[in-house]
Amino acid sequence: MPSRCIVPNCRGNYRKGPKVTVFSFPKDKELYCLWINAVKRKDFTPSPFSKVCELHFRPEDIRRETTAFDEKTGKSITAKLKNLCLRDGVIPRILPNCPSYLSSSTTFREFPNAKKMRLENSALKRALCESVADELELQNVTLSIASMIWKQN
Ligand SMILES: [Zn+2]
Repeated sequence: MPSRCIVPNCRGNYRKGPKVTVFSFPKDKELYCLWINAVKRKDFTPSPFSKVCELHFRPEDIRRETTAFDEKTGKSITAKLKNLCLRDGVIPRILPNCPSYLSSSTTFREFPNAKKMRLENSALKRALCESVADELELQNVTLSIASMIWKQN
């Protein structure tokens, strides 16, 4: 049975919900913290079996096909991927039935993409990240502080 999606209010892969592709939490520690923030679950620590489904990613964040170059014909061939995969550094941004003040689109608009952030605000973000990991119930407070900090920059 496919794994269910852990995002609140999402019925991904539930019995009466849509059949969806699910993704594991990233191994990269910083990105992992960003995912935890993004899914808006109170007091949540993902297990190795915790999954987030494709419905929470923008279409451009998901690779659905791969391109290979065929030397014989000189043409490139595009094939659909059997298993969808995520592009590097993407964060789940689309949450269902989420109050607008919690919507990731407003909170995360302040955040540049994960890679850029890694370079620019590494130390600050790491400190932030660790405090979030320790005190998940403070995540909304931490996030609003974070967006204030980023606005100032
Ligand atoms: Zn989902």
